[in-house]
Amino acid sequence: MDMNKPPARQPYEIARETVKLLTARKLVPSPENYRAVYHEVAGTKPPEPFPVDELRGIAAALPAVNPGQQRQKGILEFAIGQGNWDKVQTALVGYASFVVTPNASAAAAPDTRPAGIATIADDKPAYPPLTPEFLEQIARVIEFALPALGDEDKRFHDQALGLIAKLRDKQADPTQLKMALTNFAHRMSFAAEDQAAIKSTLLDLLRQIIDNIGELVMDEAWVKGQVDALKAAATPPLSLRRLDDVQRRLKDVIFKQSESKSRMLAMQEQTQQMLAAFLARLSAMTASSGEFQTKIEGVAKRISGARSIEEVGSVLQEAIDATRAMASDTKATREDLAAMQERVKQAEGEIAKLHRELDKASAQARHDPLTGALNRKGMDEALEREVKAMQRKQQQWCVAILDIDNFKKLNDTMGHDTGDKALVHLAEVTRSTIRPQDTLARYGGEEFLIVMPDTNVDEAVVAMQRLQRELTTRYFLRENEKVLITFSAGVAQVGESEAAPETIKRADQAMYLAKRAGKNRVVAA
Ligand code: GH3
Ligand code: MG
Ligand code: MG
Repeated sequence: MDMNKPPARQPYEIARETVKLLTARKLVPSPENYRAVYHEVAGTKPPEPFPVDELRGIAAALPAVNPGQQRQKGILEFAIGQGNWDKVQTALVGYASFVVTPNASAAAAPDTRPAGIATIADDKPAYPPLTPEFLEQIARVIEFALPALGDEDKRFHDQALGLIAKLRDKQADPTQLKMALTNFAHRMSFAAEDQAAIKSTLLDLLRQIIDNIGELVMDEAWVKGQVDALKAAATPPLSLRRLDDVQRRLKDVIFKQSESKSRMLAMQEQTQQMLAAFLARLSAMTASSGEFQTKIEGVAKRISGARSIEEVGSVLQEAIDATRAMASDTKATREDLAAMQERVKQAEGEIAKLHRELDKASAQARHDPLTGALNRKGMDEALEREVKAMQRKQQQWCVAILDIDNFKKLNDTMGHDTGDKALVHLAEVTRSTIRPQDTLARYGGEEFLIVMPDTNVDEAVVAMQRLQRELTTRYFLRENEKVLITFSAGVAQVGESEAAPETIKRADQAMYLAKRAGKNRVVAA
């Protein structure tokens, strides 16, 4: 055994020696003094103290922008509490892998994580890193949504623009960005609610206006029909197409209303003037006849009191003069009355002419006065618009022509008026059965045309069959008697480079085939 090398001492021996030395040196036996003397006796280096407070301070200063960072911060705080350097290191490395760097790509993030914390990331779906592309997408969503949210609230608008700018700023602080997004989402929810309320209020207003027009306009059947159709068109769900229809109809009605109203008012004024003149004549006549009466009474008195024929003669002359004046007055009145009668007749003629002109104007408008469906002119315009839209969208589309079965018989047995009502009924049922984007037009007497965008021929046939079924449940009522209206229809899908009139012609031919095959059926061209 080597006597120069001190023998390895047992810990209890070191402890005993430590206590001895503490006493000899008169040191307070505090943990710090004990630890220092113990290491002196053992000849070892005392470990650095674990800086709990400092580490806690660092942990508290770390931002937790995303859920990954929040978790790692929790792990770090736990490791500090344990005074475990290894765990502190692992937690910090894990935290680093969740740090948002503007240029980090989605694929790079998992690679930077040490193997030890792989499970932390894997047991939850990976959050997409906030890449500039991702932030740009959010910016674009806000930009696109902005017009729909209105620009009445300037502060909201400015806030949105500020947020968009911030999203596009590569240096923006993620924490601030998150806060700005949260604030914006909050205000956006109010703005969206506001817009919905504005829309429904405007619609209510529109319906009120339509109601008022309906009550104001003169008693004309076609205006009433138009107003009813307008009301139906202004009922949600709305589409741009339906709003366009409302606009066109309103223009027709307002034009017709203002034209007929001003001319009718002029006629009314003229008639009133004539009536006033007539009344003036009448009162003049009664006044002069009253004068005549008094004169004659005076004459009669003087005649009965006359004592000589000369006396009577002069009195009679007075009577003759009075009678002559009265007669000429009467004649003038009669002539005036005849002239007035002539003028009234002329006015009547003019009113009748006005009515004819207005009816012509209504025929030139875009809607059929009886059913409210588009007329041929309206249909041509609508088709032109539709064809362009459908070519642009490269959509398939169809036309259907339907012709009421045995309509002549219905007219003959129930009368033309009932026939008219049956046409109105068919148009109503059709309108409520087809989709809002489909267009109904009265193509001829009892023939209707339906344009169906974004529809292939099979779907169009199904749509017409649905209308057939609908007519069997929604009967046409004639004095409480159920009358079943059936129709035959031809359907054609527009071919590539085929013009609309050609398609309509094919649909028409298919309709005739449906008639020939026994009516009440739908045939595809
Ligand atoms: P089919 O089944 O073959 O179609 O027989 P149909 O009797 O319906 O024959 P067609 O289509 O040739 O006759 C149409 C009839 O519709 C003729 C016409 O008197 C009537 N009509 C056309 N326009 C109107 C209208 O505005 N009101 C009324 N009440 N009848 C109309
Ligand atoms: Mg016909
Ligand atoms: Mg017919």
